Amino acid sequence: MPKLIILGSSNAVPDEQHENTHMVVIGKQRSVLIDCPGNPLRQLSYAGVDHQQITDLILTHFHPDHVSGVGLFLMDTWLLGRKDPLEIYGLSYTIERTEKLMGFYDWETWPDFFQVNFHRLPEEEMVLVLENEEFRIYASPVRHIIPTIGLRIESTRSGKVIAYSCDTEPCPQVERLASGADVLIHEATGASYGHTSPAQAGEIANRCQARSLYLIHYPTRGVDADQLVREAQDNFPGPVSLAKDFLELEL
Ligand SMILES: [Zn+2]
Repeated sequence: MPKLIILGSSNAVPDEQHENTHMVVIGKQRSVLIDCPGNPLRQLSYAGVDHQQITDLILTHFHPDHVSGVGLFLMDTWLLGRKDPLEIYGLSYTIERTEKLMGFYDWETWPDFFQVNFHRLPEEEMVLVLENEEFRIYASPVRHIIPTIGLRIESTRSGKVIAYSCDTEPCPQVERLASGADVLIHEATGASYGHTSPAQAGEIANRCQARSLYLIHYPTRGVDADQLVREAQDNFPGPVSLAKDFLELEL
């Protein structure tokens, strides 16, 4: 059965227990890394996931706390002997900058570097990013400071749905993306430009009739984590938890 593992749950400033927010969907044929901060190889090995399993990388948006590890991920997997191609998906805005970033590293001079295929996603709702026998992943633009996508992951066998808001203000696109989801993983950075508070995340979970809510991308320094959960619970009758690094959710 495919599963999703949280590799990081912090907002832009991580601490000892929380890496920047990113996650991986593990399947038999394909495994999809969602965002790439820091050095994902460390988090993948702590999670017991072989980096060679990663076939696809979805970049939700081009902020450093979501893409700073792309260069290291590509370089380290190459140094470890990767031969298989890697598929990278994102909005044109994101892909253009990722290519430029790698250009600064002169990656075309890396000998025998494996094939990287970029896929530019249209800025439309419920775009099919990829599908295989086990799961489908859809993307919708959300409302952040720069062009950003949220994701909906559907199991083809169990029918289970996990939706991930990514970084966003409350917006109807997320509600549609997460409609009826078994699990909504919603950011809870706090009420500010381009972000959402835990109370607002609870409201959204309630409106889209999600069955459960995990808060992610929350502040970790000097914040009462239980208070964040209580704020979301005020607006959502279902179970609310904090997403923590290495949490596993079955699909
Ligand atoms: Zn961001």
